[in-house]
Amino acid sequence: MLYKREKQIAITAVAAAANLCEQVREERGAVAIAKPDFSPVTIADFGAQAVICQALSEAFPTDPVIAEEDSTLLRSPAMTQQLQQITNYVQVHLAGATPKVVTDWIDWGNGGIESRYWTLDPIDGTKGYLRGDQYAIALALVEAGEVKLGILGCPALPVDPKHPHGERGVIFVAVRGQGTTMIPLDGGEPHPIHVANSDAVGSRRLAESVESAHGNLARQEAVAQAAGLTETFLRIDSQAKYGLVARGEAALYIRLPSPQSIHRQENIWDHAAGAIVVEEAGGTVTDMYGQPLDFACGFQLVNNQGIVASNGAIHEAVLAAVAQTHEK
Ligand code: AMP
Ligand code: MG
Repeated sequence: MLYKREKQIAITAVAAAANLCEQVREERGAVAIAKPDFSPVTIADFGAQAVICQALSEAFPTDPVIAEEDSTLLRSPAMTQQLQQITNYVQVHLAGATPKVVTDWIDWGNGGIESRYWTLDPIDGTKGYLRGDQYAIALALVEAGEVKLGILGCPALPVDPKHPHGERGVIFVAVRGQGTTMIPLDGGEPHPIHVANSDAVGSRRLAESVESAHGNLARQEAVAQAAGLTETFLRIDSQAKYGLVARGEAALYIRLPSPQSIHRQENIWDHAAGAIVVEEAGGTVTDMYGQPLDFACGFQLVNNQGIVASNGAIHEAVLAAVAQTHEK
């Protein structure tokens, strides 16, 4: 099976990072550290990146990793205490870790794009993580501009959508040409998942961001109405939205440029894992103009604008509705 070893190592690493994030949130509550660009980060973001980068550096030492965080902030004397806390949590998974090796592992994620690379968001949806809501650990392998493997850990997502207060924590796993499966984070058999067919409630439901500044809610909801999505919208943080489309809980995840940041370009780590999870579950992912997402041109999707991830059946109708709506 192609990518068998990559898949196994990536699943194990994402599961360890997911457990670290949950342990931090349970024991300490999530506390924001402000980054120089004012976006929030937590000790769990750094710990998760360290654990995953350590695994990738050991197993695939020649593969670059492009991850969201770096250790510059942590190396300042003012952050000694936080770096020690991160180290303590990393030690649960990697005995003997020191602050120095932890910062080195984090910075393993500062690689450059080559024809084969990994991309990682150690906590996608940090705002959701801080609120006690959804977030995702998103890891993908890209070759020649195409995502080949996507692992999406969603530690707070209910395992069974019919039991929203039941067991939580899943990992979505997609390999190009091999389908998408979902594995309970606590262990258990992977089982194949598929996008919603036309009879299911999920085939009439939209998923969009909680953060209104991250998109254009009015336009997104107008598009959804025009495409016949009449069920109550789901607002959830992170790439977990791709997971909802892939397992049929929603028919569409749409992200249109916010009027406040119309020229913002999407980061590769915010979409690579999620996109293949939807595609391999039978769905379709393009930008708002119907172009395929181009993962071959740097840290941002510079050739794309907006994201449309659907069950496939409604994709053309959604793109047509996007073309007909105005940018406000
Ligand atoms: P979501 O929960 O779907 O909004 O996804 C979280 C991601 O939104 C973060 O990883 C950020 O990279 C991204 N983000 C931050 N600011 C913006 C913005 N102004 N427009 C679109 N996305 C953003
Ligand atoms: Mg992110």
